[in-house]
Amino acid sequence: MIGALPTAASLYERVRRVIPPIEWPAFVDDIDAILALKRERNAVILAHNYQTPEIFHCVADIVGDSLALARKAMSVEADVIVLAGVHFMAETAKLLNPDKTVLIPDLGAGCSLADSITAEDVRLMRQRYPGAPVATYVNTSAAVKAESDICCTSGNALAVVKSLGAPRVIMLPDEYLAKNIAAQTKVEIVTWNGHCEVHERFTAADIRELREAHPGVTVLAHPECPPEVVAVSDFAGSTAAMSEYVARNKPARVVLMTECSMSDNVAVEHPDVDFVRPCNLCPHMKRITLANIRTALEENRHIVTIDPRVAERARRAVERMLFV
Ligand code: SF4
Repeated sequence: MIGALPTAASLYERVRRVIPPIEWPAFVDDIDAILALKRERNAVILAHNYQTPEIFHCVADIVGDSLALARKAMSVEADVIVLAGVHFMAETAKLLNPDKTVLIPDLGAGCSLADSITAEDVRLMRQRYPGAPVATYVNTSAAVKAESDICCTSGNALAVVKSLGAPRVIMLPDEYLAKNIAAQTKVEIVTWNGHCEVHERFTAADIRELREAHPGVTVLAHPECPPEVVAVSDFAGSTAAMSEYVARNKPARVVLMTECSMSDNVAVEHPDVDFVRPCNLCPHMKRITLANIRTALEENRHIVTIDPRVAERARRAVERMLFV
């Protein structure tokens, strides 16, 4: 028997712990419209872990961190992909699905890391460190990826560096991710001075205060946080690794040193875990809303395009990462 198609009303149970009943009616129309539009247009929605729960749990088909979204984007069979995330993620989906329509609901959904470096900067780094391979974080433009040997995410950066078999690797553009990886390998890591505007704001003092206020709290940090923060945390890992840590270890009380929506989205799955919630919002991720996802599907915008000459080289760097 085929089950009933979901409706907004049937989805509320899932998110009731993180969306108060008084807020829910504001989402219902858009959720029902998006569910219908996805069927009409044979579309799927890929949503990053930092999307708000009404997007992440109610309209998304595929969710995860950058690495999971890139991997899963390779096997999408729909005609249209809507990327509920930031622009570099939509570009990555387009690189891996050149024949599909990829939409980003708000063209202003950027990223401080992606904005910190240009293709010309990568060429200059190669000149300065001849022979050193370039491993580029996926949080970059397609033009920057095209100048790189391989991409990486926070989930696979160490494996990517090791896979290169080189004594020195240029790792761009996140200085803190690069330094956190350098602490785990003998490979010399050359860094760039890009930072994530969400994670760079956390400090070791924040963690000391949290531990005093919440004795016994388990602290999980994203590797885009400064090394001093990672050093005093109980665990550091990508958003996927943080989710797995909570699922596996079931800490009584936990704090995720990352973007705010991450705790809400993980809390939905773990009603028995107490989430302490000091967090920083990503203004770029928060540009994506149910309303603009609906408009994207209704008006087929904003279509992501990449110069084919850039795309071919950038795709090689992304695909090489996916096979590490
Ligand atoms: S959280 Fe940081 S790395 Fe992620 S999109 Fe926002 S600014 Fe970029």
